Amino acid sequence: MKRSLQLIISLLLLLTLSLPPLIEAQGADDGKKPAPSGKNVDEGKMSEADKEEIDKPIKWPTTVRPPRNLRMKASGKKPKRGEEHDGYHYETINYIFHSPVKLSTGSQKAIARLFECAYAANMAISKAIPIHRAKKRRPSKDKLKARLFATMDDYVAAGASANSAGVFRSTKRMGVKSMKEKDIIDDEVLVPFDSIGINPDGSLQGRVVDSHVLVHEITHQCTALNNLPIWANEGMSEYVGYVPYDGYKLNFNKCYRTIVNKAKSQGDMEFPFSLHEFLTMEQEEAYAYMGAGVNTYLLSVMCVCYFVHMEQNLGVRNFRSYLSDTYRGKDKEKALSRLYARDKKPEKFQKTFETAWAVRGVDIKFAKYSKKK
Ligand SMILES: [Zn+2]
Repeated sequence: MKRSLQLIISLLLLLTLSLPPLIEAQGADDGKKPAPSGKNVDEGKMSEADKEEIDKPIKWPTTVRPPRNLRMKASGKKPKRGEEHDGYHYETINYIFHSPVKLSTGSQKAIARLFECAYAANMAISKAIPIHRAKKRRPSKDKLKARLFATMDDYVAAGASANSAGVFRSTKRMGVKSMKEKDIIDDEVLVPFDSIGINPDGSLQGRVVDSHVLVHEITHQCTALNNLPIWANEGMSEYVGYVPYDGYKLNFNKCYRTIVNKAKSQGDMEFPFSLHEFLTMEQEEAYAYMGAGVNTYLLSVMCVCYFVHMEQNLGVRNFRSYLSDTYRGKDKEKALSRLYARDKKPEKFQKTFETAWAVRGVDIKFAKYSKKK
């Protein structure tokens, strides 16, 4: 079949809101028997070892820092007479980012560190699950691109939605089984200053930059070859976005608790679709629900959190198989059987999922599962 290059502008919006990299990860899982799953067990009654496994699954990163020798090159062309200044380019190890105004030294360092830390985080995760664009240091010609905007008006003028806090967009070749680097072009992250805590004059607003939006969009960029269904796409980006950042390192050990507390703060949740419908939902539908006030973003990250943490090491393994299957273009429903694992049936899995959150104080209700017409 002839392959055609289709222009797919995927605007992945974030509506909510508010030396080598130093990676410490758990050891290899070879030879270790899968631990009993903690998904339905009251954590108060779990052993310390099991509790620790929930926070830190095997091979999952624990803390991630940017490379020690983080260096940065700044460049800005002098405008010719009559031309407007085209802003400043900053180059780090894996990124080239553009800013319309000169960033203060503090902002330059903070942003460079955050870019590289987010990349290092995806690289660290790729040891446990496939993240094809963040496996190693990127060659100069393939540095990832981002544009920062001093005002919301400029951000919207560049094509971003006024409701969004950040966007990742790309042109992808569709219909290929497993996408390669050459199948994605013109991809870039767009983020307004305000989303990362930078003043319009390029200075820092506070001591620490806001990491969530930038890390979320960078994760989209790093997972862009995976061809993920929308729940996993937004779920992974939200997940990495939620990892607590102190200005120097991303602390994965505290991510699980952060997400559980976020879910708890929402009160009871009711969804007008079954969990299976959600896991097979198309992008447009998921965004439409979000627009209508159904928090599909939070549900997405709760799903990732469930597989990565609550099902403990076995869940990470199943999630890895699921992602590998989707990357290879396997049928959505077939790939899902990896995640349903022992529950097998969608209705049974839905029940297990609801119970797992209920024992942690989060009440979720889905619509009853029924086979698609
Ligand atoms: Zn997103």
